[in-house]
Amino acid sequence: MNWIIAGFAVLLVLASGFAAGYRKWKWRARGQREARIAHQSYRLATEMANEGFYVLSPVVSTAGAVTDWTVTDCNEQGAAYLGLQKHEVIGSNFSRFCSAASFANLLHICARAVEDGYYEDQHEEEADSPFRIRWVHRQLIATKSGLAIALRDISGEKYHALEMSRLVNEDAITTLPNRKWLTDAFPKMLEDARQKAALLFIDLDDFKNVNEALGHPVGDLLLRATAMRFKSVIGSQDQVVRLGGDEFAIVLTAMNNNGEAVRVAELVNEILRFPLELVKGKKTITASIGISIFPDDGKDTDTLLKCAEIAMYAAKDSGKAQHRFYNSSLYERLKGRLMLEHQLADAIEKDQFILHYEPRMDVASGKLSGMEALVRWQHPERGLVMPLEFIPLAESTGLILRLGDLIIDKACSQLALWRKAGLPVVPVSINISAHQFNSGNLSQTFFAAFDKYKINPQTVEIELTESTMLGDQSSTEKELAALRTIGVKLLIDDFGTGYSSLAQLQRLKMDILKVDRAFLSQLEKTAEGKIFVSAIISMAHALGMRVIAEGVETRAQLDILRSLSCDEVQGYYLSKPLPPEAMARLLADRESGLRNALPSDAAALQV
Ligand code: C2E
Ligand code: MG
Ligand code: MG
Repeated sequence: MNWIIAGFAVLLVLASGFAAGYRKWKWRARGQREARIAHQSYRLATEMANEGFYVLSPVVSTAGAVTDWTVTDCNEQGAAYLGLQKHEVIGSNFSRFCSAASFANLLHICARAVEDGYYEDQHEEEADSPFRIRWVHRQLIATKSGLAIALRDISGEKYHALEMSRLVNEDAITTLPNRKWLTDAFPKMLEDARQKAALLFIDLDDFKNVNEALGHPVGDLLLRATAMRFKSVIGSQDQVVRLGGDEFAIVLTAMNNNGEAVRVAELVNEILRFPLELVKGKKTITASIGISIFPDDGKDTDTLLKCAEIAMYAAKDSGKAQHRFYNSSLYERLKGRLMLEHQLADAIEKDQFILHYEPRMDVASGKLSGMEALVRWQHPERGLVMPLEFIPLAESTGLILRLGDLIIDKACSQLALWRKAGLPVVPVSINISAHQFNSGNLSQTFFAAFDKYKINPQTVEIELTESTMLGDQSSTEKELAALRTIGVKLLIDDFGTGYSSLAQLQRLKMDILKVDRAFLSQLEKTAEGKIFVSAIISMAHALGMRVIAEGVETRAQLDILRSLSCDEVQGYYLSKPLPPEAMARLLADRESGLRNALPSDAAALQV
């Protein structure tokens, strides 16, 4: 029994030993298989990934410091990033691939990863980097035996992001940095500014005319050429920005005194003096420049921009092509101007305008021959406001279009009222601004008013200034032709103050020429003054135009004008502009000439 029991026990021990051995063998086999699979999938994963992998083990000096890292493994991509084959990389120390500077940097990063267990960053590789990637995303993981590094080439994404940021921050026409760039980058530039910085707000004078007359592509060309010139007058630390439209800014950050900003502002206008080559010929342009100074006028971008813009408006108001520094009184002036603009828009809405009429006299007959409609603003607080105070503002803000329509309607309505009262009407001339021609529907407005009030177009004349003809000539000529066709007479106002030639007036088929008041004061004083007016009159006559002298203030002027065969006169010597009721009396008395309205010594002039 004992032997049997002992035999079973031995068998049991052997069986369990065999079972355990078998289990162990099986586990080991499975472990080896799994390790093999794991290794294969690791290889597969690393080779397939578009990341570069490196497994590094440290090279430790006798003093215990890590002096280098040996690449114990890497994938194809990892080797390719170094411009090598895998077998050339594995087993090599990293110092072999790097310059001293980039190796020192790598050692430092590796040390950080070992210390923290993990390191990750995105950076642009230095020019001497061993890696042939521009932008890289880098992860370092500390392992038991060293470090594992994964590098990913993010140059494509970075390029895309940089391109997006360039597009967002760059002006498409001039490729200059744009307003957004200025808002983002200027605060940093101000922080770095050593002492003073300046912001020059540049607005091209009358750029709108160029755009309208020559077309937008030529306008763009001019902006590009201008941008290049601006760049040529600044230093390497300064910047030119296109704020939008015809507005630019120059930022001067390395400035010692305000004189340097003046110098740049002067250079801007000097460099613009050379004609710009455009497809349709050459063009010169000027700029109005406002300057604000950091930190005196403001410490942030918005304030400095606002101050420089206010100063720019002041430069424009004082005659363009110049620069102005900001000061607080300019702000008050601008506030006044903005208030006036607001009131003017409101006044147009509420129709607070009336027309006065300045009589014109036929020199030969002494009779009333026409009248000029002159607008006045019946301001609720200030009383009658004269046009020179609001017409320029209405023109620069575009309000002139609505105001102009109102004036045309009023003049036609008044003519209809006088006719209804049985008065013998004489032509009424209406002043028209250049902007009204550019709006493109001036003739339509006139036709509608003639139709509404049943007006004979021959009783209406339009006064345009020489500057009107500097704008888009084709659209102006079209409008003028349409009006002339139905019998409206065309009158050139303030002749001699602009640049038009008599030949140009004849081409535009002007009917009447109004000699500017400025020449009348010279008429009595100098021989040249008389010769000049005489020449204008005889040339205008030769070209078939009638001549009116405006601003006649003395009997002597009238005598000379008569001797020079001037056709008509108007001016304070005869009468100031009159309200409609007073003009009605003159019309009623037309047959007896201007006698009733004339001063006593002028009465003798009646035929
Ligand atoms: P303008 O068309 O040259 O009108 C003549 C201006 O000279 C008028 O001033 C008139 O009152 C003034 N004047 C006339 N005779 C004499 C004189 O003997 N001596 C002096 N010192 N001045 C004289 P006003 O009414 O103040 O108009 C000024 C300017 O405003 C006008 O110059 C015209 O350019 C503009 N304007 C007036 N009414 C209108 C209008 O309805 N539409 C537009 N677009 N502009 C207008
Ligand atoms: Mg006029
Ligand atoms: Mg005039």
